[in-house]
Amino acid sequence: MRAHGERDYPFECCGLMLGRFENEGRKIVAETYPISNAREEEAKRNRFLIRPEELIRGEKYARERGFDVVGFYHSHPDDRAVPSQYDLEHAWPTYSYIVVSVQNGRAVDLQSWEMENNRSRFNKEQVVSEAGA
Ligand SMILES: [Zn+2]
Repeated sequence: MRAHGERDYPFECCGLMLGRFENEGRKIVAETYPISNAREEEAKRNRFLIRPEELIRGEKYARERGFDVVGFYHSHPDDRAVPSQYDLEHAWPTYSYIVVSVQNGRAVDLQSWEMENNRSRFNKEQVVSEAGA
């Protein structure tokens, strides 16, 4: 995710996190599924938004590997790893949202967020890294 954010800089990258839902709200991320680098140059200038057909394609890919889509990631070029109001308005509960802060082309921070069930705000989620995502 950090590498993808650096690659797409100064544009926002985005992608899916594939894995499994565990007990007590834990999620295992087994694989990432990059979306933005398959896009047209013009579309990359738009803000982070995963189109329905891209999500369906990602879900199909996940199912074929026995995974679920457990969340989404995107980068904030030259901005903090904190979801914007726009991100909140386009998010769904249950999923994890990872935001990577990319400053001057280098990924400097990564935070995971989960939305409050009433959609009012994001709460920080702990990331326990196994393989150095
Ligand atoms: Zn954002």
